[in-house]
Amino acid sequence: MIRIEHIGIAVKDLKDAIEIYEQMLNTPCYKTELVASENVDTAFFRVGESKIELLEATSSDSAIAKYIDKKGQGIHHIAFEVENIEAEMKRLEALGFQLLNEKPKQGADNKLVCFVHPKTTNGVLIELCQEIVP
Ligand code: ZN
Repeated sequence: MIRIEHIGIAVKDLKDAIEIYEQMLNTPCYKTELVASENVDTAFFRVGESKIELLEATSSDSAIAKYIDKKGQGIHHIAFEVENIEAEMKRLEALGFQLLNEKPKQGADNKLVCFVHPKTTNGVLIELCQEIVP
């Protein structure tokens, strides 16, 4: 894996959270994006070679809403950039990691993504992501 691409943080109110993170990081949010397929609204910040992704649920059955109900706001996932997501999925599956997606799917910020179940990664939801090159 190449680097930590971003850290995903589940928040209750995206607008409030953007303000807080803009102040803390001292950098403006460079992008907001609604991911309708996941029922989440997202906001991104650049921090050096990594990013912060804030995630707010847009419906009560979204994974982010369920996460906040169970655990409260906080770090939701860590995303690693990979060069070839399908090869990386095969490699991890062969090692016994449980993938949450059979195929890479379209994620926020122009990425193909696949999630790895936290029960096989010591409790951390892992996202693999590969930049979509047009
Ligand atoms: Zn993410």
